[in-house]
Amino acid sequence: MSKLRKGDEVEVLTGKDRTKRGTIMRVLPKDQKVIVEGVNVAKKHQRQTKARVRGGIIDKDMPVHMASVALVCPTDGPVRVGFEYKTEGDRHSKVRVCRTCGREL
Ligand SMILES: [Zn+2]
Repeated sequence: MSKLRKGDEVEVLTGKDRTKRGTIMRVLPKDQKVIVEGVNVAKKHQRQTKARVRGGIIDKDMPVHMASVALVCPTDGPVRVGFEYKTEGDRHSKVRVCRTCGREL
């Protein structure tokens, strides 16, 4: 189970986008990277093709390492996450929790 999932709100901890927040659009588990909306944006030059009459520059969100972002807890801001086992009746599940306040994330 990955600590980060698609749809999570995260804050960037390092680099030029430090303190920027965004939503995870894609998780790349093999590379230990995530693509966060509006973070690590690269200007890509697009070549002119038959289908695309105008070439030009487009913005593309590039993957960032999972270690350089932190999940945002509604009360604490960017936090470290842990896992806990929860038992409800005869159902056992593993949940993500905030290491600071203990709430389920
Ligand atoms: Zn918290």
